[in-house]
Amino acid sequence: MTNEQKTLSCIDCAVKACKKGDAEKYPEFCLTKNMDQDLLQEALACYQEEENNRVMFTAASVESDFYGKMTRVEETVEFAKRIGAKKIGIATCLGLLEESKIFAKLLRKKGFEVYGICCKAGAVPKTEIGIPEKCENSGKTMCNPILQAKMLNAEQTDLNVSIGLCVGHDSLFNKYSNALVTTLVAKDRVTGHNPCAILYNMHHYYKNLMED
Ligand code: SF4
Repeated sequence: MTNEQKTLSCIDCAVKACKKGDAEKYPEFCLTKNMDQDLLQEALACYQEEENNRVMFTAASVESDFYGKMTRVEETVEFAKRIGAKKIGIATCLGLLEESKIFAKLLRKKGFEVYGICCKAGAVPKTEIGIPEKCENSGKTMCNPILQAKMLNAEQTDLNVSIGLCVGHDSLFNKYSNALVTTLVAKDRVTGHNPCAILYNMHHYYKNLMED
């Protein structure tokens, strides 16, 4: 493989031959073709761990049973049910609290205990942790994803659902959550929470983003 090929990865692939394991079609730089077998085995061994095995089995069964039929809301409920979760934590953006309430109502109807915490809980000013005052243009109170995680940890939730946390705040919430996290809503204030809308239009309305 040339040095140039070494910089290529799946994001540069046009064949996606790994989907069927079609080895003859793998490109030269293919990550499957050039796989570090030790790393592969290391990853596979992780699926033998009880929780990982349960998650993989459950996710596969939901996908297989309802492929293209269930919405993400329905899949999330089904996943929670099949994984045996009793108590669901919701880490929500304040701006999506109404949507979170509707989701919580659905979860309760389905028999789950639900506990939610919004990003502004604690009402800590941004400046208290050193965020510059100029960032107060979008509000004085900071989002507090670490607190959200810690409060859900204290509640001993079985599964946490992330609803509309800001980019980066979601990273910290995931980092500090003890329970597994699944994302129901990826916040995008411009597109009605549909980040792909921009990707679909990148060569047209948003082509300026590609300019230097
Ligand atoms: S693993 Fe190989 S075939 Fe699959 S997407 Fe990556 S480069 Fe393409």
